[in-house]
Amino acid sequence: MRVRGIVQGVGFRPYVFRLATALRLAGWVRNGVEGVEIHLEGSPAGLEEFKSRLETEAPPAASITAIDIEASGLLSLSGFTIQESDRRQHPTVRISPDLPICDDCLRELYDTRDRRHLYPYINCTNCGPRYTVILGLPYDRPRTTMKDWPLDDYCSREYHDPANRRFHAQPVACPECGPQYVLESDGLAQDKGHNAIKRAAELLRAGSIVAVKGLGGYHLACDARHAGVVAALRERKFRKEKPFAVMARDPATAGSLVDLSPEAEDLLASLARPIVLAPAVMELAGVAPENHELGVMLPYTPVHHLLFASGAPDALVMTSANRSSEPIAYQDDDARTRLAGIADAFLIGERPIARRVDDSVARAGAFGPVVLRRARGYAPGAVATFPRGRPVLALGADLKNTITLVVDGQAFVSQHIGDLEDYPSAQAFHETIADLVSMYEVDWGDVLVACDAHPQYISTGYASELPAAEKISVQHHRAHIASVLAEQGLWDKRVLGVSFDGTGYGDDGSIWGGEIFSGSVAEGFERVAHLRSAMLPGGDAAARWPVQAAAGFLSEVNHQHGLPDLSAGLFDFPERYRNSLEMVRKGVRTFPTTSAGRLFDAAAALLGFTRGVTFEGQAAAWVEHLATSAPAVDPYPFPFSGDELDYRPLLSAMMVDRLHGRDRSEIARAFQRGLAQGLADAIKSLSRFQDLDTVVLSGGVFQNELLMRDLRSLLGDGPLQILTNHAVPPNDGGVSLGQAGIAAVRGQRSGVSG
Ligand SMILES: [Zn+2]
Ligand SMILES: [Zn+2]
Repeated sequence: MRVRGIVQGVGFRPYVFRLATALRLAGWVRNGVEGVEIHLEGSPAGLEEFKSRLETEAPPAASITAIDIEASGLLSLSGFTIQESDRRQHPTVRISPDLPICDDCLRELYDTRDRRHLYPYINCTNCGPRYTVILGLPYDRPRTTMKDWPLDDYCSREYHDPANRRFHAQPVACPECGPQYVLESDGLAQDKGHNAIKRAAELLRAGSIVAVKGLGGYHLACDARHAGVVAALRERKFRKEKPFAVMARDPATAGSLVDLSPEAEDLLASLARPIVLAPAVMELAGVAPENHELGVMLPYTPVHHLLFASGAPDALVMTSANRSSEPIAYQDDDARTRLAGIADAFLIGERPIARRVDDSVARAGAFGPVVLRRARGYAPGAVATFPRGRPVLALGADLKNTITLVVDGQAFVSQHIGDLEDYPSAQAFHETIADLVSMYEVDWGDVLVACDAHPQYISTGYASELPAAEKISVQHHRAHIASVLAEQGLWDKRVLGVSFDGTGYGDDGSIWGGEIFSGSVAEGFERVAHLRSAMLPGGDAAARWPVQAAAGFLSEVNHQHGLPDLSAGLFDFPERYRNSLEMVRKGVRTFPTTSAGRLFDAAAALLGFTRGVTFEGQAAAWVEHLATSAPAVDPYPFPFSGDELDYRPLLSAMMVDRLHGRDRSEIARAFQRGLAQGLADAIKSLSRFQDLDTVVLSGGVFQNELLMRDLRSLLGDGPLQILTNHAVPPNDGGVSLGQAGIAAVRGQRSGVSG
């Protein structure tokens, strides 16, 4: 039997051993190059029962995608054994993502008689680190960051006992032989072992900021209910407004902070233990300013549980340890240097982290669960099955970058890397490419590289330096649409694809982001409609200043309806607005755009967001926040005709209502409803005209949950099937998967694949 899926590093071989032994079957099991291989000999009834139970009783973290069975020669074996890994060919087995501590280990953690009582590195084959400790494949202890801690007799006995839960648990350790946690402050180790954790909990209770080493990097932790320390953290981290995530002690505490639907509860407790965005029910000062949602997660490592058990506050801000926008710190010396002046103390675990992996972010959305940042707990799991063929490496977009590597028909999406404009993120980008390419032993001579069509993207520039056999560039918004179809392996499905997004390089060199396509991954996507074009002063740089987008979009409105002076009075736009109008009038550094993200920015400016944004998507999130608190209102007009959605009546109505003193949240709601109504009208009309029954929605704007709920109520019960992202984000974090899908299908079918 060949078993494929996530079957290595999840306790699968001991499980097979126990099942085979119980059924009195002889044979062996081993990790092979494509999963787990099993040889069985015994009675037909026993073999039959093994087959029927193998999948249903598999360990919780295992995920089987295929079982191939063939007859083999009789070896007349007696007994069942676990064999060494097969290392002959290149490894395409899946690496398990990191796993949260399991219930058995949690019980032992608090059992005073257990050898691992209060031991922060307790784990077993069902739980613990995987991707963040793996240095190479196949997954065995000498190729993990635990290689420098030899097992003592106790751990070794468990490790070699097929009946034990820790049989071949590669990171297994105990307080006698394994790593420990140390508390450092003022550059000195103050406490070690459990005392270090107790001391950290005391510091957190006293209102300090503590850097805590977790699975994929350091967190900065502080009491989420302590406004003073939260403000201090923002100041020291140079993070003015972007929301912080909160780790709640237990599900009940999480439920007191946010409104959790049953789907959100499932997501929160799922094996990936992501940060779950849900409507906040209580204001935690400074944690998520001007945001109706709060991101919460549950403890997932033993050290998190021990902190809470030692009296840490029941809701902790747990934010990636970095200065604003840098990648998360994951190496001890780097953390000490970069976090000096931010953290009052460091809770440092001695086990090294093999690679940086941030927390994931997810939401139980209107169209099902969706991952908004794909990292710890998900990466590097395969997200999709592709046509088999040559390897494909897709480099993603420059913002919210991820990369995708397709090997032997499996698409592996990297963890969230970040914005490549930041030098440390660009370094992480190079490291991650090298990491995945070497991990899967991919030969550059075979690789088809896919990148964005933007000539100025850093990732595009990097593509041309790679020693790959062939390269193709993929238009940004087509990649968004393909990301949804790739998740489901729908290569030939003809769809209407709507990409409402921030910024992407269009076919005509202008800034796209409000595009509707028709077609399939296999035949390509033709642009059939778009947002009416506006002139955008400053081009891509306008994304930082909503009033700059407002100047561009409102200049168009001007010609039709007359534009009041917005730089004074009620609107009070800053000087930048007037300068931007000048740029549009003179045509200086001004570029045509159809970006829906910039339309949101213009709306935000009209609603009073006249300062600069401090993180991507902030203005749109602010509009949604305003709109969420409003009662039901009629939509503003956003008419669709020909191949254009016309924003002019929409913005014009907003401006008039503002001047008439209408409540801002009502205006925001009417804007959002107008957007949804206009888009739904366009979708209905185009799908009829193009004879399509399936619609794909992808792009950063669709992170707006209120827009998704409106679209669901407008389209959900109709004849159209709506497809959205689930496994990869609708934002630019999903672009690499879409690029890979288009490249793989085009590459295989055009005959260049050989
Ligand atoms: Zn465990
Ligand atoms: Zn995008």
